[in-house]
Amino acid sequence: MSSDVTSASPGPLSFEVARRDDPTPPEQIASVLADPGFGSTFTDHMVVATWTPENGWHDARVRPYGPFSLDPAAAVLHYAQEIFEGMKAYRHADGSIWTFRPEVNAARFARSARRLALPEMSEGDFIESLRQLVSVDQQWVPAGDEGEKSLYLRPFMFASEAFLGVRPARRITYSVIASPAGAYFTGGLKPVNLWISTDYARAGEGGTGAAKCGGNYASSLAGQLEGIEHGCDQAVFLDSSTHTYIEELGGMNLFFVTKDGKIVTPELTGTILEGVTRRSILELAKELDLEPEERRIPIDEWKSGAASGEIVEIFACGTAAVVTPVGELRWEGGSVDHRGEGHADRYAEAIRSRLLDIQYGRTDDAHGWMTRLV
Ligand SMILES: *Cc1c(COP(=O)(O)O)cnc(C)c1O
Repeated sequence: MSSDVTSASPGPLSFEVARRDDPTPPEQIASVLADPGFGSTFTDHMVVATWTPENGWHDARVRPYGPFSLDPAAAVLHYAQEIFEGMKAYRHADGSIWTFRPEVNAARFARSARRLALPEMSEGDFIESLRQLVSVDQQWVPAGDEGEKSLYLRPFMFASEAFLGVRPARRITYSVIASPAGAYFTGGLKPVNLWISTDYARAGEGGTGAAKCGGNYASSLAGQLEGIEHGCDQAVFLDSSTHTYIEELGGMNLFFVTKDGKIVTPELTGTILEGVTRRSILELAKELDLEPEERRIPIDEWKSGAASGEIVEIFACGTAAVVTPVGELRWEGGSVDHRGEGHADRYAEAIRSRLLDIQYGRTDDAHGWMTRLV
């Protein structure tokens, strides 16, 4: 047996490609791409790779999309040893297909892996896995010009070893699936109303808040339900120890634009997920004549700043929705809305267009943020 098969740290993964022999007919793909929605239709193929302590990452393939065969004792089903990423593939006007800052997602995936005691995957293998899938399923990448359509990419990794003992699993599955995505919002930007969850926190100090793992999402759902019961769209989570400082939403980071031209976001204290969109907005701020600031933001500053007019815009951001204006903030016994007469989400709109123009290749990629996949 050659040494590159047995080594725990072999060279770059090579992907075997096994195509579906009954691919989705082009007319059917076209009808999906006409109105893709979000996260409900998947492409014809998926990536799968396996990790064991003996062989490292191996057996990487692009294969027909379909269910995993999973032992009922698979550790992920019991102890939630799982992480994921969320990215998009964008088709440019010349037909080429690109993705946005994949090296930042790769680095975050590696950080999440360390926190969840999962094996890291190299940046090279991670990006190659996306390239392999998008190349095989390239007909599923919508034209981006109308409606901000894209192919959403979901890389993920989970403990597939069948063992009920509590320790890091010794068999891990990596996979990438892809799903055509339409504009998150149809008919313009619609502000979301947020609920301050007092009963629930999303993450605690020393916990997994800075990792992108399924468990964080599971623990955010009760707060989200509480928000929905109070007529809101989502919950905003505060720090779990003092219940004073703003952290983020279940799956999006928050930004505040102040009257004096600052764009402020909660600083990374270990309980907040560092979004690629968040980082990009901080880096774009100067171009929009805004002074970026990362610091702790007390929830009372939101309440008073929204009422006094000190805060002029609030928005949430993430890969899926890009930028979403925030409307009313509600809590047990009160509410505040910073949008007075004639309010315009000027900066939210400007940042959103700037990001989309870069992602769809409609403007110069001055930051070098785009990577070509196909
Ligand atoms: C993924 C995620 C975000 C947004 O990150 P992006 O890289 O911008 O998509 C924000 N908060 C949480 C909790 C997330 O899981």
